[in-house]
Amino acid sequence: MVYASRMRSMLAILAATLGAAACGDDPGGGGVDAPPARRLELTAAVGADGLSEELAFAVPDRTRSITVVVAGATDALYALGALRSPDGTDLVALPTGAIGPTMSTAYRDEQIGQMPGNLYQSIRLGTFAHVYPYRPGQEATAGAWSLRVAADRAGPVLVTILMPEDDGGRTLHLNVVVVSDVITVGSPPTFLDEVQGLLAPAGITVAVDQVMTLPGTALERITEGSEPQEAPDSMAAMLPALVATRLSGGGFDLFVVEGLPPGVAGLSLGTPGPPLRGSYYYGVLVRPAATDTQTARVIAHELCHFLALQHVQNVGISGMTYPDPIDDTTVGTDNLMTSGTTLTAGQAFALSRSALLTML
Ligand SMILES: [Zn+2]
Repeated sequence: MVYASRMRSMLAILAATLGAAACGDDPGGGGVDAPPARRLELTAAVGADGLSEELAFAVPDRTRSITVVVAGATDALYALGALRSPDGTDLVALPTGAIGPTMSTAYRDEQIGQMPGNLYQSIRLGTFAHVYPYRPGQEATAGAWSLRVAADRAGPVLVTILMPEDDGGRTLHLNVVVVSDVITVGSPPTFLDEVQGLLAPAGITVAVDQVMTLPGTALERITEGSEPQEAPDSMAAMLPALVATRLSGGGFDLFVVEGLPPGVAGLSLGTPGPPLRGSYYYGVLVRPAATDTQTARVIAHELCHFLALQHVQNVGISGMTYPDPIDDTTVGTDNLMTSGTTLTAGQAFALSRSALLTML
């Protein structure tokens, strides 16, 4: 015991010394050979030009993906203004011109929200998420990276960077939260096997950790939605707060509600979404369909959105089409990210990069 406590105090002194001499942002505060941390929280300020200062971070060896979550004002639009890999390439390479108005036009007028530049990004209100890589051929190379946040107005942001180990984890843990007085979901849910079957081509195993019922909320029927994606003050984005203090751990939340806006069978709070419990975008929603088969297809579709995937093609208000960034998908009715059930190898790769996937 004495030896252990002496060791601890020596290590504390060593860590304090290194911390003072080296990088104050490293929450690991590690020893001489400590690998870079796999989770960082950094603060930044977006300036009047729509860009933050450059934030440097180190990607450890054997990293599955770089997941960047930018949280800021709930009425501001966010994306990445730069993402520089170890060889110095800026993967975003924004075109010249005013950033904020361009983002606002893409999101509010065209109602797609695709960020200009070379990186495929979905601009978001309030909280932005990006997972790199998102298609085969990209790699979260170990080494020195940096990023800049882009926004349509100035202000502070919190940037969380997750760099999970590339450990082959393919299990997605779910909490099924039934937001209803009248819907019953079995334990395990009767739709689970079919959800599992749809995600199996991506090598993903679905585990339902618990089924929880939340009666008596005012959110049983989601009657409003916003385009192109949910806003922080939308009804759907209020669901995660219902369970924020009741659930913990790494499970992801699937909300089963009685109603969604007309024509909507399910929705994801991100494409991709922030894999951070506590975020108002941490979840997907579904209303039960006529059959478990239909319900399972919607759930699998929304889970794929949250982990990684876009629709194979979206159409903007202007009529312009926006294909997904994956080469082996084709427009049609077969794919899970249109109205079908299949996933391509490229989509499977993108899904496998999610920080939500675990080994067990
Ligand atoms: Zn969809």
